[in-house]
Amino acid sequence: MIVLRQLIPSDVCLSCDGCCRFAENPSAWSPLFLFEEIRELTQKDIVPSCVFSHEGASGHQAARIDLVADGDHFICSCFDASGRKCKIYPSRPLDCQIYPFLLARHEGQAVLAVDTKCPYIREHLEDALTREYIVYLKKFLLSQAFKDAAAREPRLFQEYPSDYDVVAVLPGL
Ligand code: SF4
Ligand code: SF4
Repeated sequence: MIVLRQLIPSDVCLSCDGCCRFAENPSAWSPLFLFEEIRELTQKDIVPSCVFSHEGASGHQAARIDLVADGDHFICSCFDASGRKCKIYPSRPLDCQIYPFLLARHEGQAVLAVDTKCPYIREHLEDALTREYIVYLKKFLLSQAFKDAAAREPRLFQEYPSDYDVVAVLPGL
């Protein structure tokens, strides 16, 4: 499984309500789990396959995890609302590891974008550390291993409704 270096300090995220919660169900912002990630999580009994019932995790397909109602919004099935943390954090999918960066389809191109709803990235987008992290992500995304994964699952790059800024174009994806 891919493990990406993280940009945002964990104490920042643990005190923020921005992630893992969704205004609607289904949501374009909910994470897509690659087939390989679903297989590993279910084989190791980290998550039951039923939490992918929304799209169905049958065959060799990626799937969005089911969201469940929580008050006036929805949360990821893997979110511990009382502890305010991800129950599968060490095994969470690439789509979650990469956030607040996004794999987006923008004007016909594959791009690395950033979700401007994230308060940390809004404040730190121009920091040297963030710019260096974007170079790190871009190098990973242009690796052959990632290109192969993206070719197997074209939905990795999706169109987002709004609230994002493009930070790098990814040629060949
Ligand atoms: S919105 Fe940003 S700061 Fe808040 S939890 Fe998500 S990644 Fe962390
Ligand atoms: S898998 Fe974990 S990090 Fe990803 S949305 Fe669900 S609770 Fe959040």
